[in-house]
Amino acid sequence: MAPKHQAPRGTRDLLPEDTARWQWAEARAREVFSRYGYSEIRTPIFEDYELFARSSGESSDVVQKEMYRFSDLGDRALALRPENTAGVVRAYLESGMGGRSRIHKLWYMGPMFRYGRPQKGRYRQFHQIGAELIGSAAPGADVEMIALFVDLYRAWGIDGLTVAVNSVGTPATRLAYGDLLRAWLAPVATQLSADSQARLVTNPLRVLDTKSEVDLALFQQLPAPPRMVDHLDADSADHWAAVCAGLDAVGVAYEVDHGLVRGLDYYTRTAFEVHDRTLGAQSALGGGGRYDGLIEQLGGPPTPGVGFSIGQDRSMLVLQERGLSVENPTVVLVVAMDATRTAAQTLARELRQEFAVESDLEGRSFNAQMKAAGKSGARFLVILGEDEWQRGQVAIKDSKLGTQDVVAPSALAALLRSRITA
Ligand code: AMP
Repeated sequence: MAPKHQAPRGTRDLLPEDTARWQWAEARAREVFSRYGYSEIRTPIFEDYELFARSSGESSDVVQKEMYRFSDLGDRALALRPENTAGVVRAYLESGMGGRSRIHKLWYMGPMFRYGRPQKGRYRQFHQIGAELIGSAAPGADVEMIALFVDLYRAWGIDGLTVAVNSVGTPATRLAYGDLLRAWLAPVATQLSADSQARLVTNPLRVLDTKSEVDLALFQQLPAPPRMVDHLDADSADHWAAVCAGLDAVGVAYEVDHGLVRGLDYYTRTAFEVHDRTLGAQSALGGGGRYDGLIEQLGGPPTPGVGFSIGQDRSMLVLQERGLSVENPTVVLVVAMDATRTAAQTLARELRQEFAVESDLEGRSFNAQMKAAGKSGARFLVILGEDEWQRGQVAIKDSKLGTQDVVAPSALAALLRSRITA
């Protein structure tokens, strides 16, 4: 019988076999963030629509086509968050954090929402893990961000990713560079895809971001495009050189990608993306960059910032494809006879203060419990035989060592502890 309801298009359930891997990865990420001195921030999953419209840029795909926009019963214009930098900056300003200390290092993880066309690795509800370093304009902050990104993957056991970096300059140099791009594209302008023709007017850098085969073929007919890094203002050029030198110094391998512009309009200077080339079309695992104008744009004092977000769904796919298996906790199975069932429940509860413990809930016979125990993969079996229990003893079988001992229940915890840590 087909179920009456299905998860909405573009969403999916994470089932226990998934959540074990997700939780493991999240725990590793928390450790890395904490070693880098970052603290968690949790913001609402919906915000005023205007916040996203203003921060991401009206011409961005996210705002134009992908926003989960709705009005609530009070007719407020809201949207499910398509990304989290805007929400974090809003919270930073609203809480007055900036007045308390100059630099804030924040991380987040949670669901984001974009109304795109679903496919493998692309969902309408997806998950991001991200970081923001607010208050520093120093190139070292960009370098730390990129190193942190790479180190999160290292903590997940994944090396060999491609880190692509570029500088997208400042709004002023971008404007001038936009004119150079328009001139470069002029010979093919009328043949470009409709999207690119529209972007050529509103935001020519985004034409470089096109996925259209037609556009890409047209680019091939043109000489090499002008490069943003050749047209930076003096400060941005110094910043770019310092970021590259800093990455070299800390040993983060990277490629310069002159076509990298990032999808959102708020980036300034450094932009970066990280790819797993084994993934095919949806190879971007995440990206980020500097957003020195954003905080002012959202009503705050001029404050620099740099951040990234990692697509968690795709990262978990990579972990799965590379065969990461998450270790299960060692399980202790308590097996009872009719006369010791209540005692077994009590003992199980006590042991659960420290260990992962299973026990029969359904009144199954001793033999049925022993059979199930064999299949369960539990390392330890604690058997509450009737006679032994009356003598104040339980049997403990250790399938790893192939041993069986008889001990007092009060000695069990110490024995388990020593075996598990041995
Ligand atoms: P962006 O800021 O748009 O580059 O997003 C950062 C990362 O989030 C991307 O590199 C993807 O890994 C992930 N991501 C973005 N949109 C989606 C989506 N619709 N489904 C799954 N992952 C996504």
